[in-house]
Amino acid sequence: MNIYADNAATTKMCRAAIDAMLPYLDEIYGNPSSLHSAGQRANEALTDARRRIAGCLNCDAEEIIFTSGGSEADNQAIVSAARIGERQGKKHIITTAFEHHAVLHTLDRLEREGFEVTLLDVHENGLVTPQQVSDAIRPDTCLVTVMYANNEIGTIQPIKEIGAVCREKNVLFHTDAVQAVGHLNIDVIEQNIDMLSLSAHKFHGPKGIGALYVKKGIRVTNLVEGGMQERGRRAGTENIPAIMGMAAAMENACANIDRNAAVVIRLRDKLIEGLSKIPHSVLNGDASCRLPGNVSFCFEGIEGESLLLLLDDKGVYASSGSACTSGSLDPSHVLLAIGRPHEIAHGSLRLTICEETTEEEIDYMIRAVKDVVGYLRGISPVWRDLVSGKAEFVIE
Ligand SMILES: *Cc1c(COP(=O)(O)O)cnc(C)c1O
Repeated sequence: MNIYADNAATTKMCRAAIDAMLPYLDEIYGNPSSLHSAGQRANEALTDARRRIAGCLNCDAEEIIFTSGGSEADNQAIVSAARIGERQGKKHIITTAFEHHAVLHTLDRLEREGFEVTLLDVHENGLVTPQQVSDAIRPDTCLVTVMYANNEIGTIQPIKEIGAVCREKNVLFHTDAVQAVGHLNIDVIEQNIDMLSLSAHKFHGPKGIGALYVKKGIRVTNLVEGGMQERGRRAGTENIPAIMGMAAAMENACANIDRNAAVVIRLRDKLIEGLSKIPHSVLNGDASCRLPGNVSFCFEGIEGESLLLLLDDKGVYASSGSACTSGSLDPSHVLLAIGRPHEIAHGSLRLTICEETTEEEIDYMIRAVKDVVGYLRGISPVWRDLVSGKAEFVIE
């Protein structure tokens, strides 16, 4: 059995996305900037895709900028807000300690330029509160950027309320919604969002394409100089096949959000219940305020990398956290942010399922994880010390 349980890293493309792309990889290959009919056909497709994507977020088509993915959208949102702030003498930015590296590393760069960054503490349940944001805002704050849903532990932040605090204090609000779009209902107007990043490959669309929503009136800084594509905000010939695939995947995901969520949440909770029975294990992040497909655990006395390799042998494709940090031996900054000690953060497992996951696969994964955890503990000197009382358990 081969089970793909790493949907937070990337997803399988849906048939609708592939079908929407094919004509644009084949006979409709014009450049949308060309004035001839071949170009105009591509341009019509581009206009249509932009309108449909905007429809899924409840914004206007002109408020959508196509990017190469979530990382670029995050970079552009943050740099744009920083440049606006700079012109007004405001060089303070608020974010959380468990953002994606596309956000944190962009902020590191701005810090080296003289910006000051406040990292909000994340509560043990994986949530930040609107009150924390409110308390951190200063007269020189130019941006609040808080992720919609965390990619490792799946917790969903109170975006609408944080947006309301920012509106009231007249501070720009950006959210990295890469894990949320296509999985949760989003309305940028109702939720007081000024800028939002999304990425197609996290909702069964193609890789290398994403978008940034920017509310009308906010001045955007372009990261790529060149032609006048995207109304001068992002140069380069548009990736029409990918954009068409993204639009189809997004419409498909958004039209089925509630039905898919109901199916996936039931499976998720069954998986959580099964894994919770493993002694000295703990679920990471709030049990209910989390993405439908996210299951994240820490197991005491286990080394995450070995767990992943042995699960791979059993045909289970899982992750220890974010794909971007795997391969490095540093524990996840997300697990450290919610207060997991280093040795516990090393024993993490993330299983992210989707609407195609079956009940049999859930049962198989519960058995496989139990077996592998048991086996690894059996050969672990750390575990021997814990059981013999020479060391103390951290997880009850
Ligand atoms: C995947 C991801 C990104 C990066 O998106 P890419 O399209 O891969 O660049 C950014 N933020 C979050 C929360 C993600 O999960």
